[in-house]
Amino acid sequence: MKYTLAYAQKLDAQDELKSYRDKFYMPRKENGEEHIYLCGNSLGLQPKTTKEYIDQELADWAKYGVEGHFHAKNPWLPYHEFLTDKMAKIVGAKPIEVVMMNTLSVNLHLLMATFYRPIKNRYKILIESDAFPSDRYAVESQIRFHGYTNGLVELRPREGEELLRHEDIEATIEKEGDEIALILIGCPNYYTGQVFDIKRIAALGHAKGCSIGVDLAHGAGNLKLELHDSNVDFAAWCTYKYLNSGPGSVGGCFIHERHAHAFDLPRFAGWWGHDKETRFGMRDGFNPIPGAEGWQLSNPPILSLAAIRASLDIFDEVGMAALYKKSVQLTGYLEDLLNEFLENEVTIITPKDSTERGCQLSLQLTNGNGKSIFEAVTKRGVIADWREPNVIRIAPTPLYNSYTDVHTFVMILKEELEK
Ligand SMILES: *Cc1c(COP(=O)(O)O)cnc(C)c1O
Repeated sequence: MKYTLAYAQKLDAQDELKSYRDKFYMPRKENGEEHIYLCGNSLGLQPKTTKEYIDQELADWAKYGVEGHFHAKNPWLPYHEFLTDKMAKIVGAKPIEVVMMNTLSVNLHLLMATFYRPIKNRYKILIESDAFPSDRYAVESQIRFHGYTNGLVELRPREGEELLRHEDIEATIEKEGDEIALILIGCPNYYTGQVFDIKRIAALGHAKGCSIGVDLAHGAGNLKLELHDSNVDFAAWCTYKYLNSGPGSVGGCFIHERHAHAFDLPRFAGWWGHDKETRFGMRDGFNPIPGAEGWQLSNPPILSLAAIRASLDIFDEVGMAALYKKSVQLTGYLEDLLNEFLENEVTIITPKDSTERGCQLSLQLTNGNGKSIFEAVTKRGVIADWREPNVIRIAPTPLYNSYTDVHTFVMILKEELEK
């Protein structure tokens, strides 16, 4: 009974968040049918309200020109501040710890300018061996920039395993911590979907004198995060994945409150990080705003912030607790169906424990024909994501995906595997 389409439809009918699907544009095939969109981990869908938020700023720009900085309905001068509280809530941070600025890779560099401070025998950076390429390039180039070589320490799964064992992470920090200047962890890992205990890693790392940063590209809007309590030094994320803010939109940063007044920390500065009262004095020495805002460089792109605002208003209305609750059920349902129908054909490499993953499941096909099957299900209208060397990433997002989407996907995959 549990495995029928009728049962999936029943779950949808009972879903307290079912009305939210209609608040997004679901991509459609040429014949008008909806795609099965399971790719919110790559690019989230467009809220139908986004256009209004952007149109407001376009209208105010037309009406006021430069005066819009003060007189727009939502004045542009403090516009980024309108996003802070809601964003902070989503990642479990205090408002002083969060700012929206730049994009993810840029922010990683800016945060490393402050929190990667190599000295003689402590110059290494610890990352996952399968970290996202941009993160890897960023840390490698930081190490070289500071004049070091061989500074990368990689956390690698054991032979024949896909996931990192917590005891191995801890052993590496224990053994090499004295030489590690920075630990940078993706949470969850973009490839396997594995979530790490960042609070524990932060405690172990700090005990060894390392700084801790987290890449939340796949965590923000997906996991129930407690960034402040986790005690990490910094975090950065993009908003175009689970946060549905549109391609290339502005990213978010977290800098722990204990650094909020540490004005002697080295940082790359720009006028938007300067004290708001005297910013336009233009002659003063740099006087940073306390907290994360003090790391801003430029005045931010308002049209992008408007799109983020549209999305954050939806998240705020739903709340991460309700969203996460559905997420655990929806992904659990995907897992159940895969185990029921395709136990021998599909290996789920993502952790089985729902507290060690978000909504994404990473699938490997047992007989190694992953790419061709991925292409076949794509032809059938499924939008998912292929990652070299051999993973299909499936991300049912609780805001706009249904149990029926999940059921339909598994049936299509099953049919293609049976061909
Ligand atoms: C998506 C993603 C990025 C992308 O970085 P941009 O600077 O926004 O292009 C970087 N790191 C991780 C882990 C990602 O998942």
